[in-house]
Parts: sequence; structure tokens; C-alpha cells
Amino acid sequence: MSTITENLNHLKANLPNNVCLVAVSKTKPNEAILEAYEAGQRIFGENKIQEMSDKYEALPKDIEWHMIGHVQRNKVKYMAPFVSLIHGVESLKLLIEINKQAKKNNRVISCLLQLFIADEETKFGLSETELFEILDSEEFKSLNHIKIVGLMGMATFTEDKTYIEEEFSSLKKIFDKIKKQYNHLPNTDFNTISMGMSNDYKIAIACGSNMIRVGSTIFGERNYELK
Ligand SMILES: *Cc1c(COP(=O)(O)O)cnc(C)c1O
Repeated sequence: MSTITENLNHLKANLPNNVCLVAVSKTKPNEAILEAYEAGQRIFGENKIQEMSDKYEALPKDIEWHMIGHVQRNKVKYMAPFVSLIHGVESLKLLIEINKQAKKNNRVISCLLQLFIADEETKFGLSETELFEILDSEEFKSLNHIKIVGLMGMATFTEDKTYIEEEFSSLKKIFDKIKKQYNHLPNTDFNTISMGMSNDYKIAIACGSNMIRVGSTIFGERNYELK
């Protein structure tokens, strides 16, 4: 048995049943994805729309593709025909564009709103106030080709577990609050909290995550220089 299969099986053996695994395959070749596919994995995450589209074209059609990166509005049209979940939505303007492209494709596209929970300026995301502004707006209520299925967040990159725990717990708290308040809207169905990566997914699950995005633990370290 080779490494990717082993890594995947090992990871899955220790995951609670309610936790969905997104295998983050960015920068990795199709052969690596196919190996994970053969081992039973069907959900893959990419952070570049062009790369995801190329992989979608080349690989089996029962793969569910998740966009986990920062999304540029002018590129939404390239993934609108096939993307199954967009994790990183952080503006009403972007939602409006996703809605428009979904409509053109006769689809309803599932999205997560990305919250800024870390204390690193390099990370994207909405503040809690901005999140409420979007959900309260009349414009949002008129978007019937998107469905907000939950929230996504990234913790600060640190060794300090208590710190990471606090950030993930704050996301879980906000999730519970907005679910109570907004789940009656026709274009929401709050069921997903996407938090946790290779180095912090165990903490994330303990804090209530039910979707983790794991790359290097499955596929090995990424080497951007060699790309
Ligand atoms: C790359 C990436 C991951 C996976 O990171 P690993 O540390 O390799 O598990 C998860 N989420 C996002 C948003 C990413 O960009």
C-alpha cells in the first residue's frame, strides 16, 4: 500500500462519523488525486479556480469539488457549472455574482460565509458585524440561486493550543447564534462548520467542527517552488 492511501485510511479511521473530510489537493498532480479517489475519497478542495477547472475536466465526474481559496468575482463563471461548495465567501458582492452565474447554469450553489477569527492580517474573512449585515439585507433575501449552508474559518498559525481553541470556539458560538436567527430564510440551511486543517483539525473537531480541510497530512508537504 502506498503512502497517500495509508495516510487517508489512517486519518479516516480516527474521524467521528459526522465529520466530513475535504482532501485538499491544491498543487498536487492528478495521479495523486486519483490514488485518493481509488481509496474511496470523493471530496477534494482546491484554492485556484483555473487549477480546479483543469482537474475537473480531467478526473472522474463523481468527484465533488470544493473551492476553499479566496475567490475573484470575474472567475466565478468558470466554476459555476460544477463546483459543489464554495467555502470562502466574504462579501455580498461576491454572493450576487455567484447567484448570477448559478442562475445561468440552472443551479443553486452552496456556499459558506468565511469569518475572520484569527489575529493575522493575511487571512480573509468577514467580521461578525459584516456577517449580520449580509444576512439582514433585503438584497441577500432575493438571491435564490445560492444557499448558505454554514460558516468557514481559519485559526491563527501558532503552537498555542488554547489560543486556537478560543478562535474555533468563537466560530462555533457565532454559528449557533446565526443558525437560530436565520435558518428560516429560504436560501439558508445552516448545517456545516468548516474549520480545521492538518495541524489543528483535532482541536477543531473538539470545538464542534463537522468539516475539515486536510492537505499535507494526506498528500505530503506542498512544494511551491517546483510548480
Ligand atoms: C491549503 C489549505 C488547507 C489545507 O492545509 P494543510 O495544512 O495542508 O492541511 C486548508 N484550508 C485552506 C483554506 C487552505 O488554503
